[in-house]
Amino acid sequence: MDYDVRSNPGLLKLDLYCRGLRLDDSCFVERDGGRKILRTRAGLGSGLELILPHGLWTNAPVSEPFAKNSPYILHQEDGAYWIRRDDGERISPVELSPRPGWYDRETSTGRPMTRIGTLQGTYLGIYQAKVCEYWTEPVKSNCKFCSVGLNLGVDDAPDQKSISDVMEVVWAAVRESGITYVDFNTGHHSDHGYLDILEPYIREIKKDTGLLIGVQTPPHPDLSRYDRLKQMGVNRVSFCFEIFDRDRFVEVCPGKHREYGLDRYLEAVDYCAKLRKPGSFEPWVSNGEIIAGLEAPESSMAAIDWITEHGGIPTVCVFRPLLGTDYADLAPPKTEEMIPVFRRLYEACMDRDLPIGIAPNIHVSLVLLPEECRWFADKPRRYALKEMKRQAMSKLYSAHFHREREKLLQRAGAAVTG
Ligand code: SF4
Repeated sequence: MDYDVRSNPGLLKLDLYCRGLRLDDSCFVERDGGRKILRTRAGLGSGLELILPHGLWTNAPVSEPFAKNSPYILHQEDGAYWIRRDDGERISPVELSPRPGWYDRETSTGRPMTRIGTLQGTYLGIYQAKVCEYWTEPVKSNCKFCSVGLNLGVDDAPDQKSISDVMEVVWAAVRESGITYVDFNTGHHSDHGYLDILEPYIREIKKDTGLLIGVQTPPHPDLSRYDRLKQMGVNRVSFCFEIFDRDRFVEVCPGKHREYGLDRYLEAVDYCAKLRKPGSFEPWVSNGEIIAGLEAPESSMAAIDWITEHGGIPTVCVFRPLLGTDYADLAPPKTEEMIPVFRRLYEACMDRDLPIGIAPNIHVSLVLLPEECRWFADKPRRYALKEMKRQAMSKLYSAHFHREREKLLQRAGAAVTG
């Protein structure tokens, strides 16, 4: 593996998650067309959206106290943005992730569009429905790293969003940002109504736009609901159990432990992974999501092994001690401890021929995608043939996706310029 962040953008993406970024006075992010810093989603994204070399999108921590000690400083030099080390050495050119025009607009009911959904990299993320109930119980049992309950009334607020408002934002993001994927996320509802709430939105988006759709909720007690979601055209389901070490799971996620338990999450990952026929090209994946840095790296790697052995694809976030959360005072993980975790992520997915990096135009800023973790492989040549196959599949699927969508949009008489 190349351990030089100047030539390894995967390592730079990881190092920025772990060490943060400082902004030099020369930076005028919004004036220069970048996205303002929004506090969004279930607690892991708070930073500046950037594009690193080789098309790696990222969300670099800038607000948290640990970022003030970062060795990395963002400079603007004659209109171009560079990350420099604090000794002045140029590390890497970067681009600001473009701020879409719709970020400054309202829906026809007068709601700021960013209160309905925001771009995470190149996809549209929507935190749907009321706030997670772990935050509203008399004695809160929220996950300790999470900031969702702090977001009430600010960006991407977790409240009920009407279908027409959501569709307006989806169309704006299709036309102006060229999105291919919408991701819905909810927290815990004691009546398990989260899928009932999401299904009408899913049907509408699928019918009108043909976009890929993902759903991230707690594991529904009736697993046959996932068969139904698949039939409806959902492409991804994601179960965030966060922590694989059982004792640590209880500590970090007391609400999830009380209401579901780790085994329910694992059962859902396994059940949904088996809904995809082995070796098929069905656009359906089951994700198990964990946070590296809140348990031993060995435990994160055991989680990766478990998920991939069961046919799921891991989503591995890097713990970020967000301001205002219960874990605000913890330190982020060390880069060198995270490298083996992300190396395992790539190798486990490749060894098991899992369909990673197939969907078109999905760049994720909040995590290192499994295929991006090839930058950590010690023997990348071992995977050269599989990489060629993976990239060919990606091209084929992308062509198919765009062909099908074009037909659908022509039928609907909708012009897409994104
Ligand atoms: S389940 Fe946990 S991570 Fe998800 S919104 Fe609720 S408190 Fe946050």
